[in-house]
Formats: sequence, C-alpha cells, structure tokens
Amino acid sequence: MARLWNFSAGPSALPESVLQQAAQEMLDWNGSGMSVMEMSHRGPEFTRICDEAEDDLRELLGIGDEFAVLFMQGGATAENAIVPMNLIGLRDGHKADFVLSGIWSRKSATEARKYGDVSVVASSESELNQDGRTWQPWAWFPAVDQWQVRPDASFLHICSNETIGGVEFMDWPDARRMRALGAGDVELVVDASSHFLSRSMPLDRVGMLYAGAQKNAGPAGVTIVVVRRDLLGHALPICPSAFDYANVAKERSRFNTPPAYSIYIAGLVFKWLLKQGGLDAIEKVNQEKSRRLYQFFDRSDFYQLPVHPQFRSRMNVPFFLPDTTLDGIFLDGARERGLAQLKGHKSVGGMRASIYNAMPLEGVMALIEYLESFERTHG
Ligand SMILES: *Cc1c(COP(=O)(O)O)cnc(C)c1O
Repeated sequence: MARLWNFSAGPSALPESVLQQAAQEMLDWNGSGMSVMEMSHRGPEFTRICDEAEDDLRELLGIGDEFAVLFMQGGATAENAIVPMNLIGLRDGHKADFVLSGIWSRKSATEARKYGDVSVVASSESELNQDGRTWQPWAWFPAVDQWQVRPDASFLHICSNETIGGVEFMDWPDARRMRALGAGDVELVVDASSHFLSRSMPLDRVGMLYAGAQKNAGPAGVTIVVVRRDLLGHALPICPSAFDYANVAKERSRFNTPPAYSIYIAGLVFKWLLKQGGLDAIEKVNQEKSRRLYQFFDRSDFYQLPVHPQFRSRMNVPFFLPDTTLDGIFLDGARERGLAQLKGHKSVGGMRASIYNAMPLEGVMALIEYLESFERTHG
C-alpha cells in the first residue's frame, strides 16, 4: 500500500503515526476491551481521553485558566451562527463587526446577520493598487488602521487564514491598537480554522478563537473553541442549549454526547505535536516548507501567484498555470507521481497546494520537483 502526498485543503492529511496508533487501538483502546467509538462518553476511559486532549491543547497553545476550551460539533460553518448567538448579546444593541478578507469571512458575516446588527468594517473584495501593481479581490488583507470598528460593537470578527484565497494575517490588534481604533471594549473573535496549531498564536489579544479540526488538527466532526470565561453566560434566548458555551464549558465538552472519536484522534495529533517540540518547532518546519515553495514560484516565469507577498499563507498556496488548458494535464501528471488533491477551489480555479503540519518537507520537495519538470516540458 502506498500513501499519496496529499495536498487537500480539508479534510486533509493526518500524521501517519497518528493513523497507525489509531489502527492499533481500533478494537481495544489501552486494554479497555473496547474501541473508543464504543465507550460511554461519561465513563473513566473517555473522560481520560477528553481531559488529556484538553490539557495537551492548553500546553501547546499556552492557554491559561481564564479561557475555556470546548470541543463542539457543527464545523466552523455552524460556529458562524454559534458565535453571534453566544457573544452578540455581550452589549446592548447586539452589534457585530466584520473584516472581510475572503470567502470564509464573508460567509461568517452573512450568517451573523440573522442574529443582530452586522457591519463590515473593512473589506478586500475589491482590487488593491499599490506600487504600480494590481492585486485581485481577496488577494490581500485590509490594513488595521483603516478598520472602522464601532465602539459599541460586542465583537469584531476576522478570519486569520483564508483557506480558499491563501491569505494569512497575523497582525491581530492588541488592546492598545483596539483602543486606537476607538474599539477598546470590543472583543476580537478569530476564525483560525486552517492554520490552527501551525504556529503559536497571541491569545492575549482575543476574546475567542475557533477552528474546525479537519484542516490541521484532526478529523472532521469536532470544532475547537477557545473562549474567555468572562464572556460566557450571555447567549441569546434562541441559542440551542447544546451550543451555549456556558453549558458546554460547565460540563467540560460533555453537556451532550461529543464527537468522541474525532476528539480522540485530535488528542493523538496534539500528542504528536508535543513530541515534535510543540508549536515553535512545527512553526519552523512550516516556515521552511512554505519558504521553499514560494521561492520556487518566485523564480519561475511560468507559474503565477495571486496573493500579495505580505499575506501569503504558509498553509494554503494557490497558484495558476499560464493556460487553463494545461490544468487537466498538470493534475493527471501529479497524480501519476503520487501528488494528490492539488486542484484549486471551484470558485477561483487554478491549483492549490495545502501544506499543513502533516505534510513533511519531503512532500513539498516532491511537489517542487514535479513543478520544475512540468515547467520544462510545457514552458
Ligand atoms: C473550512 C473552513 C470553514 C468551514 O468549515 P466546515 O467544517 O466545513 O464548516 C470555515 N472557515 C475556514 C477558515 C475554513 O477553512
């Protein structure tokens, strides 16, 4: 059996050692005589699995006790509704502000409109002309000093890695800059789905952060929520009990049956990351992988990169061939070499290489080798 180099944007590759351990433990977890899928979510075995996953995640991200860590269901898409249902009522007026930087943040804003007064405070849904170059919509990130945040908004939402556009943004405003924006009391909410655990993150700047696991942290089915405890208890009356952060926090993610098997696999990924040396160590690997790939593209006249260099994602790398008639030939040739799922998102076309934590440098080098040879043949 040969495993492919899998460049899928999500669900995406998992570390091989994690899959092997899960396979070994499939019929009998740790001498319990049961698969993790067969256990009571309130029994001692799963209690240990779930609590260890939370503890390991806290260690990885340096999450203090002021935050609750929640394992929820519904994906980041459901979270787009669950966030306003929990947080828009933090302040009178039920206002939420959004920075639009791509398809995912736009979806978040659209969903939130059902629950209150939503304002778009900055957007990259237009071209950017800068230093004689033009950047396409969603290929750049709006500068923080231009965000027109309402001082009385409950929260300000950003997406820190736009998976489809390949735009990454880490310049999250701290308290001082939020005050400079006139938004000193507005809580920052971050959808970090597609670069979660790829690098360390300044949690001291956020009220909450969420991530669907299937991009970089585990299998589909579990959404990870990190939310400051003092923000709990303000859910709108229409919020389903199972989605009220206060309930989920109180029961340590077992208010109702959680996505137990997904939590177990995510927990194995957390342990794998700790063994690698934590987020600083994996960040160095991710830097090197993306540096090599972008360096290759920058030296090529054949491939085109759409994203403004300042905002290039380390995780999702969209690129275009010079002619769309080559797309099918490129993908077939890639597949023959064991390079899978390089097709770009249907809304933008072209190609996209997602190089999450589980993609080793070796896989990126195999991609670069193929890119080189394809350019030699078709350039
Ligand atoms: C994938 C993704 C989502 C949606 O996740 P689902 O699990 O499909 O709901 C939302 N935001 C970002 C940034 C994503 O990458």
